[in-house]
Amino acid sequence: VEERGEMKEWADWMSCSRGGWVGKGLGQEPEVKEVVDAWIRAFKDAEEGARQSMGSLAEKGFKEGKMSVFHVEGYYDEGLFVGGGIKKFAIAKVLGQQGRKGMGCDWEDQDGDVWEEEEEEEEEGEEDEEAFGAWGFKDSGFVVAGGNKTVVMKGKRYAIGGRKLKKLVPFLEKEMRTKIDVGKEVLPAPKGTEKIKRLYNGVKEGQLGGDTKRVFEEICGNENCAFGCSVEEIIKRVRHNFGHAQSDVYKIRTGGVGRVPDGVIYVETDEQVVRVIKGAKECGICLIPFGGGTNVAQMLMCPTIEKEPRPIISVDMGKMNSVVWCNEEDGLACVEAGITGRVLTKVLAARGLTMGHEPDSFEFSTLGGWVATKASGMKKNKYGNIEDIVRGVEGVDGKGQVIKSNHGGRGVGRGSFGMDVKGVLIGSEGGLAIITRCVIKVEKLPEATGFDSVVMESFECGLGLMREMSGGVGKPVSMRLVDNEQFRLGMVMKGGSGSGIIGSLMKSFALWWYGFDTKNVVGVTVKYEGSKDEVDFQKNTVRNLAKKWGGLVGGEEGGRGGYELTFGIAYLRDFAMSRGLIGESFETFVNYSKLLEMVDAGEIG
Ligand SMILES: Cc1cc2nc3c(=O)[nH]c(=O)nc-3n(C[C@H](O)[C@H](O)[C@H](O)COP(=O)(O)OP(=O)(O)OC[C@H]3O[C@@H](n4cnc5c(N)ncnc54)[C@H](O)[C@@H]3O)c2cc1C
Repeated sequence: VEERGEMKEWADWMSCSRGGWVGKGLGQEPEVKEVVDAWIRAFKDAEEGARQSMGSLAEKGFKEGKMSVFHVEGYYDEGLFVGGGIKKFAIAKVLGQQGRKGMGCDWEDQDGDVWEEEEEEEEEGEEDEEAFGAWGFKDSGFVVAGGNKTVVMKGKRYAIGGRKLKKLVPFLEKEMRTKIDVGKEVLPAPKGTEKIKRLYNGVKEGQLGGDTKRVFEEICGNENCAFGCSVEEIIKRVRHNFGHAQSDVYKIRTGGVGRVPDGVIYVETDEQVVRVIKGAKECGICLIPFGGGTNVAQMLMCPTIEKEPRPIISVDMGKMNSVVWCNEEDGLACVEAGITGRVLTKVLAARGLTMGHEPDSFEFSTLGGWVATKASGMKKNKYGNIEDIVRGVEGVDGKGQVIKSNHGGRGVGRGSFGMDVKGVLIGSEGGLAIITRCVIKVEKLPEATGFDSVVMESFECGLGLMREMSGGVGKPVSMRLVDNEQFRLGMVMKGGSGSGIIGSLMKSFALWWYGFDTKNVVGVTVKYEGSKDEVDFQKNTVRNLAKKWGGLVGGEEGGRGGYELTFGIAYLRDFAMSRGLIGESFETFVNYSKLLEMVDAGEIG
């Protein structure tokens, strides 16, 4: 190949990977020439395959040249069939990676479940950017990557990122009794200026008059007001009309967005909130506070003009996101309401603290939103729900008056007299005041943490375990029972081999030995937090009770996977929607005595 002078890099690669020089002049021998011709064809095909797979990935939002070799590989497998070494070299060459190692000679076989990604340069301002028309971060989400309907979570934010999910689509097809054409996106998230303009051509200039606009521009600054119809402004106005239920995402994707806010403003200080509310009152404007836009109950959606004839402005709280003060001795912190759970967790952790509130949406939902919706978090066993965590609330009411809980903000603690506005503002759904800041309870980060999982013979056994645990001591910080379908989904999301203890349990004869039927088994995922002793105690309690209810302990990995899966569910829902499948999660409260009845009533098919 080297003698042909056509494919120098390929020749170098062959020499170094096959142990060196073969013999000069050999390429002219007719038999050898035939072989060399075949090799050269294979090399060219291999390069073409790598180029095509890069093109497909670029269409899915991966940035050319920055993606992992292994992501390309996933796509590549679909088209050409060539050996692993050639494939890797072709991809490395097309990606422009240099050097022996980069070019594939010395690579170890990396065909494991998890693809490692290279350091990706972050574009300025792109960090943590939210997707439009889909749940989550712009750089994350499930995409089809490779043959046999393989799906992969792009990006490296989540532990599941890069894992080849070969069984996910077959699982969905079986469960939903349908065929999925994974290559075809029937309802993609809107992208591109022209498409967005066409999709939202019904969104016109809002009803706000020039004088009214000037009032708010003067208060918040021009850069913090979106009143117009540029693509950027339309995206803001449309986004602020919705939360994140599937119906919201569907409306955004199909363009059926209805009445959207006439404008969006971003407030930065308490004083601006007061002035905005007073200004709105004078100008006859209806305001809707916007936190992270993650609610699933159409709480941000503009009422019809018949119901609300006034122009509507959405007040985005996202720029009020600081920790105002923190008193470690008292275990209290005062935090602005627009802070997201993701940022608050990070800021507190840097001080060795936590508030312990972790709703599944916490990466995007806000403190003000949690209070307004009376949110509950995954770790409520230890830290409580938002009403237990929030010690004081401050807001601005419809007249522009500042209202403070704790009887006008006199100290933060339990008062034994009279009613308190805190109780009124918690769950007020944005209808009574704009919440501007809260005093929250903070604790030292736990000394020890851990995960666990238990496989139970049936939902009833799982329920028995949960019920007994709920009444006793040694409760873990989080404990979730998942039914058989979700349990099997969890297995599928573990990726190719379904490795780990639960994965092997499912395959092994252990289930058979214990008389478990894979169509009935359910899982319990557990998270422990506390001092080392507390965690040991919680673990012993869970494991002893699990044994009592006939459960098999699956261990740490299954528990962690199950816990983290909750952050992937909305991404999965939106991936499925792109392929024409509807799926949604609903939450409700029911007492133990009625639980089985409710579950039975909810079963479909
Ligand atoms: C994937 C996913 C997972 C979820 N998981 C959970 C969960 O585990 N637990 C749970 O409880 N909920 C959950 N939710 C629902 C949702 O995240 C919560 O209701 C959350 O508290 C909403 O907060 P937000 O900041 O996004 O509020 P938004 O959606 O922006 O607003 C919700 C309501 O609160 C009002 N509001 C927002 N900020 C303020 C403010 N500063 N002052 C006054 N009113 C305000 C709005 O006007 C609106 O009426 C989930 C949702 C999704 C999509």
